[in-house]
Amino acid sequence: MTDATKTLCPYCGVGCGLEVAPPAQAGKATNRDAEGTPIWKVKGDRSHPSSQGMVCVKGATISESLDKDRLKYPMMRHSLDQPFRRVSWDEALDAIANRIRTVQVTQGADGICMYGSGQFQTEDYYIAQKLMKGCLGTNNFDANSRLCMSSAVSGYIQSFGSDGPPCCYDDLELTDCAFLIGTNTAECHPIIFNRLRKYHKQNKKVKMIVVDPRKTPTAEAADLHLAIRPGTDIDLLNGIAHLLMRWGHYNSVFIDECTSGFSEYAEVIRHYPPELVAKKCGIRLDELETAAKYWGQSERVLSLWSMGVNQSSEGTAKVRTIINLHLMTGNIGKPGAGPFSLTGQPNAMGGREAGGLCHILPGYRLVKNPQHRQELEQFWGLPAGSIAADRGRTAWEMMTGLETGEVGLLWVAATNPAVSMPDVERTKAALLRSPFTVYQDAYYPTETAAYAHVLLPAAQWSEKTGTMTNSERMVTLCPKFRHAPGEAKADWEIFAEVGRRLGFVDQFAFQDSAEVRAEFIQVTRGRVCDQTGMSYQRLQAEGPLQWPCPDELLVQGLNSNKVKIQPSNPKRLYTDLRFPTPDGRARFGAYHSRGLAERPDPNYPFILTTGRLYGHWHTQTRTGRIPKIVQMHPNPFIEIHPRDAEKLGIQDETWVEVRSRRGICRFQAQVTKAIAPGTVFVPMHWGALWADGAEANALTHPESCPDSLQPELKACAVQLLPV
Ligand code: SF4
Repeated sequence: MTDATKTLCPYCGVGCGLEVAPPAQAGKATNRDAEGTPIWKVKGDRSHPSSQGMVCVKGATISESLDKDRLKYPMMRHSLDQPFRRVSWDEALDAIANRIRTVQVTQGADGICMYGSGQFQTEDYYIAQKLMKGCLGTNNFDANSRLCMSSAVSGYIQSFGSDGPPCCYDDLELTDCAFLIGTNTAECHPIIFNRLRKYHKQNKKVKMIVVDPRKTPTAEAADLHLAIRPGTDIDLLNGIAHLLMRWGHYNSVFIDECTSGFSEYAEVIRHYPPELVAKKCGIRLDELETAAKYWGQSERVLSLWSMGVNQSSEGTAKVRTIINLHLMTGNIGKPGAGPFSLTGQPNAMGGREAGGLCHILPGYRLVKNPQHRQELEQFWGLPAGSIAADRGRTAWEMMTGLETGEVGLLWVAATNPAVSMPDVERTKAALLRSPFTVYQDAYYPTETAAYAHVLLPAAQWSEKTGTMTNSERMVTLCPKFRHAPGEAKADWEIFAEVGRRLGFVDQFAFQDSAEVRAEFIQVTRGRVCDQTGMSYQRLQAEGPLQWPCPDELLVQGLNSNKVKIQPSNPKRLYTDLRFPTPDGRARFGAYHSRGLAERPDPNYPFILTTGRLYGHWHTQTRTGRIPKIVQMHPNPFIEIHPRDAEKLGIQDETWVEVRSRRGICRFQAQVTKAIAPGTVFVPMHWGALWADGAEANALTHPESCPDSLQPELKACAVQLLPV
């Protein structure tokens, strides 16, 4: 396309490259949406290394959402029963700065909370950390990645000494065995799955194992589908390890030279004999043995996982138990092998790099590490001790802080907690009690906007320049190519304006996002996620780049006639089999299975699992406004096995009332063998705005992993009543 801008799809963590061209080009027809509005033309960018020109329906239709229901001006109201009135930016930002000063005096810094988003660009994330953790002295910044990826983060940190997915997408086409657990990749990360499926079809010897209680489109493509009972993942993984030990399929040289903690692990897996494991998981013994055989006979095993593993009260243990299998068999640091978390949001990875969770700091640093705090205080020109030594509040703890009155200001940006949080009725009740909520978003209305005192219009993707990092550590520059509607501003600009009002003029003296990035990449210097060689200039000239990418190599590259020189191996981490732990060894983590936090019982006999559909994105803020996607997935539903349906007198398309200990919903039944008996499935996309009374998270609970503090959104106990 002429005049096309190369950018990145702003939906999911696959991070597909897009080319976007203006609605009207000389001599060509203008694309219009169903209402006749001209829309930007979108196609896949063939030069993008991650996606090679492929896009799914979300990326292809993204431009149809850009002009619908946009929040254009700042608005305020004193109480939630009043209508909003339009105000100037000065009035809104002064009100926020004044409220921050008041809360600092009356409640202390811990009374100030910001809840951000993997939809942020890295520049937005970085400035938010500088404001909250540096200048305001509270680590109460959490992102919706807490609900998405925090178990992967803690699993990587505990096993390897640092966050960071060690693999790359090319590994999809180099593996002997793809082990997909807790991921419906075909629907949730479709372009990754396209690459894997094509390779799998062309290479008959390559095995694909899918572990999922549902027979998803991903499972349908597998050589082996293990439909385990929800909550038995660790049993399965330890059972596979048990068989590998029994059969001698382990790499003793790798274990001896590159790891620690194997003897404790060996002692634990001794307790997972295959007969017991198969029974507990609800699968056949030969299925378990086949999975172990595929692992043991493969030179290169690639594990892929997402929310089915992370959204669990034992999420970190699950991640580490996956990693254990890789350490045991030496399947890491080489092509086609390794543990690979698939990120949900488009820039949750950039958020992690910028320190966008309440226990981490920019540059893959940790709040609890005094040296890390000191490095940032010095870099930011702040007095020693400015950064608090304790982690901040998680997203859920912000809600409980509203309940107890400990939170005096909640600032929500680019996320929709009134749909996406667990126990959403309790969440809404907490939001109702908030004395001062700022809601910063591109769209209006949303479910969360109803709980705001101040509304701030945010420029979104396409209307601001910034960077995003996808699941394989590939950083793409996303340039501004259209004007933001009304008075909308970039998120980082809004944070910086508040920072300057609070007296931090030098800390927020940025002219543009290139200056923000230039500062951010300095805090990555020497870290696992080193991006000092990734300036805007270089990303623009050379296209997307993977980190680690230190600037010494940039200098070399520029000195050699702009020949692109990458670091020794940016595609994979740990190729030298040394890990960023004090002794350089990766650590086994020995865990027994604890199962679900809320188990089925005679009153609530079914396990509800939630998930995503191919076309919709999260709470439908964009996709609910795109007719093609709404036609594809018009209504929420509940999947139920025919045996359960018959027992309860439920038929296809009849209504079912679903009750948990927290809420009641109604859904139309889809009677299908795709779901295991005893388990039901509901998609999580519908909030009160789109389908009142069918909010999956009215049923879910907030019990969380003790390490990652990620709630168990994937499973709760429910009862079903035909209506
Ligand atoms: Fe966008 Fe994800 Fe679809 Fe790629 S797979 S086009 S990143 S939604």
